[in-house]
Amino acid sequence: MTISKKIVLLGHFGVGKSSLIRRFVENTFSDDYKVTIGVHILKKSITVNDTDLSMIIWDIEGNEKVQNTRNSYLMGTAGYIYVFDASRPSTYTNINEDLDYLTNQLPGIPMQLVGNKVDLVDLPKLKTILTEKNIDCQYFASAKTGENVEALFHSLGELIIP
Ligand code: GDP
Ligand code: MG
Repeated sequence: MTISKKIVLLGHFGVGKSSLIRRFVENTFSDDYKVTIGVHILKKSITVNDTDLSMIIWDIEGNEKVQNTRNSYLMGTAGYIYVFDASRPSTYTNINEDLDYLTNQLPGIPMQLVGNKVDLVDLPKLKTILTEKNIDCQYFASAKTGENVEALFHSLGELIIP
């Protein structure tokens, strides 16, 4: 049986949403920055607990404020990934406010928080900073090296199909 589910990646401009999706779907990476305009929809199937899960992944444009995300992007979402840039503190300082907003908009919908671009930072130092800010982040990934990208999407899949 195949189940199709909409997944959306959220987060500020340039944190690596498109790159994470590209790494996951195509296993490629580019250093060129191409701004996402509107939305690109990509598809990838994975197997979760003996179920074929077809992830319909919405790669949307970034927003200065998550509160400005179009309703149509969030509507019907079965799971989402909130991405911040581990090398740019401005992308995670207000993270808990953003997550509060999203859990209100998408009550009960599975989510994963991920710090991307870990190839650029000292991870133990970052973890200390996040703990000080009360930010509970389990996933640290790099679209560039591929570290943890597969695991990230799979863990979301497992939350969607328990
Ligand atoms: P988006 O605006 O969130 O979709 O971000 P993009 O995926 O377009 O990436 C923004 C920029 O960051 C691009 O120049 C990417 O090459 C770069 N980038 C994305 N992920 C990584 C990563 O894991 N490591 C490094 N070093 N650069 C990255
Ligand atoms: Mg993008």
